[in-house]
Amino acid sequence: MRILILGGTGSARLLADRLVAAGHQVTSSLAGVTRNARLPSGQVRTGGFGGVEGLKKYLASESVEALINATHPFAAQMNLHAVRACQEAGVPNLRLTRESWAKRADAGGWLWAGDHVRAAHLAARIPGTVLLTVGRQHSDEYYARLAGRRVLCRVTLAPDTAVPDGWELLVDRGPFNLAAERRLFTTEQIAVLITKDSGGEQTAAKLTAAGESGTKVIMVSRPPLLPDQQAVTSINQALAWLDALGEPGLDCIG
Ligand code: NAP
Repeated sequence: MRILILGGTGSARLLADRLVAAGHQVTSSLAGVTRNARLPSGQVRTGGFGGVEGLKKYLASESVEALINATHPFAAQMNLHAVRACQEAGVPNLRLTRESWAKRADAGGWLWAGDHVRAAHLAARIPGTVLLTVGRQHSDEYYARLAGRRVLCRVTLAPDTAVPDGWELLVDRGPFNLAAERRLFTTEQIAVLITKDSGGEQTAAKLTAAGESGTKVIMVSRPPLLPDQQAVTSINQALAWLDALGEPGLDCIG
């Protein structure tokens, strides 16, 4: 089967590896924003498609039979384009995303914000050191409201713009285990954690450490799925969805 994976995440890479091993013709598409990205098995293409029309043309010219959008849960524009293009082209499509943190037992105690502006506004009203983990491309939305505050801004790559006075960059790709997160929250006396609902296990230790140390958590909500959009939260579920499309030979569902 010819499968297009919209990637840029670890699960997209693992999915491509599994599908290639199962004998499928897989192309992974990367936005091209991450330097030195780890590449998945199979074909790789890089860069935007040129909106819905561009993606529709690509689906037709490459005879794509199924699309799995495994981009980050906050990649809302790509998701919208993928759903529209697939609907118009008649290509089955699935969203593979991470389980939201909203289902965690401690989520009820967090302050939820609809966007980064609201999150910055909430944080400005709580005194103490801030740990900001919203990603490189959104950190600057906090500069104005949190200038002069002590902010530890944790990013995988340093932003292009200089951070305000009082801010310190923690450039770190992780993984962030619980012991290290506990040390960070205690040593730096983190009063406020601002993060976004990326979900999954990989970066969840900070939430446990925050809960243990009495840190206020401000959580930016993720963009919703589109109406009637099919979505799964595990690679095995994505493989089962492909299997159900009627293609024989997928025997790797665990
Ligand atoms: P976005 O706002 O939803 O997408 C903006 C545009 O970038 C899309 O319209 C599309 O351009 C292009 N694009 C995005 N993902 C693409 C892909 N996998 N292949 C080809 N083109 C793609 O996306 P974003 O939030 O900027 O994220 C960009 C990439 O970074 C995604 O692959 C995502 O998985 C990864 N990422 C995002 C976050 C986050 O917090 N947003 C975090 C970690 C990783 P065209 O309209 O021209 O097709």
